[in-house]
Amino acid sequence: MFVGVGASRVRNLFDQAKRHAPCIIFVDELDAVGRQRGAGLGGSHDEREQTLNQILVEMDGFDTNTNIIVLSATNRPDILDPALLRPGRFDRQVVLDRPDLQGRRAILELYVKGKPLEPEVNVDEVARQTPGFSGADLANLMNEAAILAARRDKKSIGRAEVQEAVERVLAGPEKKSRVISDKEKEIIAYHEAGHALVMRMLPNCDPVHKISIISRGMVLGYTMPLPVEDRHLFTRAKFMDDLAGLMAGHAAEELVFGDVTTGSENDLERATRIARKMVCDYGMSEKLGPRTFGHKEELIFLGREISEQRNYSEDVARTIDEEVRSIVDQAYNTAKDILVQHRSTLEAVAQKLIKEETVEGAAFEAMFKEERVVA
Ligand code: ZN
Repeated sequence: MFVGVGASRVRNLFDQAKRHAPCIIFVDELDAVGRQRGAGLGGSHDEREQTLNQILVEMDGFDTNTNIIVLSATNRPDILDPALLRPGRFDRQVVLDRPDLQGRRAILELYVKGKPLEPEVNVDEVARQTPGFSGADLANLMNEAAILAARRDKKSIGRAEVQEAVERVLAGPEKKSRVISDKEKEIIAYHEAGHALVMRMLPNCDPVHKISIISRGMVLGYTMPLPVEDRHLFTRAKFMDDLAGLMAGHAAEELVFGDVTTGSENDLERATRIARKMVCDYGMSEKLGPRTFGHKEELIFLGREISEQRNYSEDVARTIDEEVRSIVDQAYNTAKDILVQHRSTLEAVAQKLIKEETVEGAAFEAMFKEERVVA
């Protein structure tokens, strides 16, 4: 409401607030009006600057017994005019991060209230499956589940709808109509079975929740790990295992068909990014030691990277490349060794996928009961 309405409205607002004190003023999307002054081109920003100036003046005008609290919200704290953040104005910053496991459980419980849920729906399980989801994502997820239930002429929301909704929000709706040849289907099945098998065998990977070769959104198939907990610290061993899991699709294609496809593009991109971060940011390379390389400009509040500046020599750049390569190679070899050793299980999982298209975590786990390992 603020932009373009001008300084007099601001004065008016604060006058009203004083009359109604004790009172809270809340300005949503503060960056719309609180952007750093002098940053725009031409005169079109005068109106906004006047509004901002008026806010600054009003906030300075409080004495200690004015019972008014001014709150505001923004997604771009980095572009705010520094004058706004000075003591006496917005002098306290509270970062609202994405919710952790406990937070997600609480948010979900809020959104399932009033919705007819079947008793087998497990809020805890859904919370575990959705790391990185914001409150809005979770609201969206429960709405999707409700819509799916309605579309299926059901009176209540079951586990199937909630699961489907999680996958929809993560990867887009199922594309059952996309035509996939039998040969492609076979390749995708071995690729995903490879991911799942390697993740299952390595101690630091999250347990496999579901494997599917039904394409969704942009992906042809997927293997869904179920994180056991929200993690804040990652060990080198965890990274190495995760990398092996990522490389396993590519490795399986090579092992089974003697050739590789474009299906691994995303896996390889992610693996390379992780390996590079291990070397450049986390000091996990033995050759280069515990140092960081490259100066990054980040939005401190939001952890978004804007640019990277190089602060190392050509020689170090070459070593970084070599180290990234050796880490990825090592992960690839780990994956391939596991696949060779458990070849018969790889076949079994892939064949099951070709037949059933989706294998749930429990059914996948059961396949290891009668496993025969090639020594
Ligand atoms: Zn893959």
